[in-house]
Amino acid sequence: MTTITAKLNNEVKKAPVKGMMENVMQQFNSAADHINLHPNIRKILSITNNEIVVHFPVKMDSGEVEIFTGYRVQHNNALGPYKGGLRYHPTVDIDAARALAMWMTWKTSLAGLPYGGGKGGIQLDPSIYSEGELERITRRFTFALADNIGPEHDIPAPDVNTNSQTMAWIADTYMSTRPPAERTANQHVVTGKPDGSGGLEGRDRATGYGVFLNIKFWAKRNNETLLDKKFIVQGFGNVGYWASHFLEKEGAKLVAVQDAFGSVENKNGISVEDLFNYSIANNGSIVSFPEATGMSNENFYGTECDICIPAALGNQITESNAHTIKAKLIAEGANGPTSVEGEKVLLERGITIIPDILCNSGGVVGSYFEWLQNRNGELWQLDEVMAKLDKKMLESFNKVYEYSEREAMDLRTAAFCIAIKRIEKAYIQRGIFP
Ligand code: GLU
Repeated sequence: MTTITAKLNNEVKKAPVKGMMENVMQQFNSAADHINLHPNIRKILSITNNEIVVHFPVKMDSGEVEIFTGYRVQHNNALGPYKGGLRYHPTVDIDAARALAMWMTWKTSLAGLPYGGGKGGIQLDPSIYSEGELERITRRFTFALADNIGPEHDIPAPDVNTNSQTMAWIADTYMSTRPPAERTANQHVVTGKPDGSGGLEGRDRATGYGVFLNIKFWAKRNNETLLDKKFIVQGFGNVGYWASHFLEKEGAKLVAVQDAFGSVENKNGISVEDLFNYSIANNGSIVSFPEATGMSNENFYGTECDICIPAALGNQITESNAHTIKAKLIAEGANGPTSVEGEKVLLERGITIIPDILCNSGGVVGSYFEWLQNRNGELWQLDEVMAKLDKKMLESFNKVYEYSEREAMDLRTAAFCIAIKRIEKAYIQRGIFP
């Protein structure tokens, strides 16, 4: 007999990721002031369009039933369907989903995509569930979201702790619950699927590759190369690994890494592939990697280096550690890794930040390619994908860099100004219904 424990997942230990909403709103308001954004449009963009919260039961391997809480926040769709990832993490709550959805709106607008912004996920620690449990959780979450997502309405994608397998389960569940004649036409309800199931060749590396490209473009603008540049990475998941992989290929040296379990360093360089293979064999953890020494998490951001890549969670660089940073460039692989106060310290110290909505936009650009491929019934080759990504990322970087020079502002404010202006234009052209 099944026992219902009604164990809500907010009992799960929550990491202290606070104030994401304050951060994104301050970033938005300061750019809105710069461009003198129309007050009506400021009102619209300051709030989310829809917020879906679902509680759903899932049968665990033990036979017990657990209740999970899932979120999907749809911030704005003035430019097209809502787009953005689903994350599985104890810190997922309505505040985090709202902030992350807003960042997606700016990111897709800046990239010139026909999308709005959304984000969501489930508040849980995926490491404590079996593969079978995660599959049932994902499928039941998809079913609970039902008509709130759709290939021309709201298109989820991978994010923290979700991957192509998660997307395959979502696509399959969504398609299986459509009327028969609509099933196969709905494959693009999610992006980031496995290749072979409608996924795009290269989508796995797109975010990390985009981070690498942004660093390379920045170096070029500053008459530098990446040869022998030292870099540190927080988070050795999909984004951290691929960014490191491409930087290493260009001659840069990985000198410290932090993940959810601990930090390691080696001043002479850490082999990216060796560390990746080690972490795969070690339950996803980099701790005790034999070719490096352990270091305390507190000292990680103070490591001697040229480039710092936060590629994990939000609010990691704050006023409490920003003064210790030695890098002259921060490339934001994560969403919202730098708090507004932390950023102030960095800018005062002359440190450049390539902002998340530009720096990690390779992922959603790759998603757009996948969506087009599915919609048009095409199959794109890897070299074609990478060449298109190169072009799109360079266009975005140049736009932001040149705007920031022209207006004498930091790159984040410039990126926000460009993104908001594009949405403002759409509202001005269309007016407000009715
Ligand atoms: N989760 C990624 C992001 O934050 C990708 C979103 C997408 O591809 O829709 O940009």
